[in-house]
Amino acid sequence: MRTLREPGSPREPGIGPLGRIPIRECGEPLVDLRVACPEVVAACRFPFARRTVAEMLVRAARALPEGWRLKVQTALRTPEQQAEGYWGHYRKLAERHPEWPRHILRREANRFWHPPDAKAPPGHCTGGAVDVGIVDAESRGVDLTATRKPGQSAQPTYSLHLTPDARAHRRALIRAMADAGFSNCADEWWHWSYGDSAWAGRTGAPFALYDRIALLPPEVLAELARIVGCDEQDRQSHQTGPRRSGGPYDERGA
Ligand SMILES: [Zn+2]
Repeated sequence: MRTLREPGSPREPGIGPLGRIPIRECGEPLVDLRVACPEVVAACRFPFARRTVAEMLVRAARALPEGWRLKVQTALRTPEQQAEGYWGHYRKLAERHPEWPRHILRREANRFWHPPDAKAPPGHCTGGAVDVGIVDAESRGVDLTATRKPGQSAQPTYSLHLTPDARAHRRALIRAMADAGFSNCADEWWHWSYGDSAWAGRTGAPFALYDRIALLPPEVLAELARIVGCDEQDRQSHQTGPRRSGGPYDERGA
């Protein structure tokens, strides 16, 4: 899969430098996106984010072209969910490339998933990061990823492989999210954040505002228990089947 980006498009600061950015946790609470921003389609299984992030999502949603709705595919992750995603991706890479030594596997895994054991907290574990897309008035996904030839990479935000339509749609998303105050991971068009270490690293802020969420509030824990209960029911009813899918973004990292 060839990766080609627009000249001058942003580069990610890297995991190491992010760990050196101070964090001054501001103590802002998590909110339920289904309540805090009903105009946003909260398609994630764990729809919680920091209060300011929810307010910014409302602004971004209102800035989209008429008839389009902002869809949040992933928001908060627990450290366990982040670790499960990261090490699952690492194992797939190891199976695909048995010749790679461990440090290469870690480097490649880190490009797509924020390592759960890094000093800088993964953005999704702070409540500051969201993975987004757009749906139309009929809830159909708006094309943000079509490439001119099969197999070309659409993942970099400023990929040069996009069709003119996909590029125009993506521009509308970029404009709405950036104007609302989010910063984007240039390797992943869908990943946006505010207040976490990656946001500070990209914007030059002297410190991050959001640390890992150490203690989940009771309403978030209740939702987590409900999700785990549903998963357990699914496992029991499909003894050998795959885990319930969370949608097309399941394999997406960061
Ligand atoms: Zn993400």
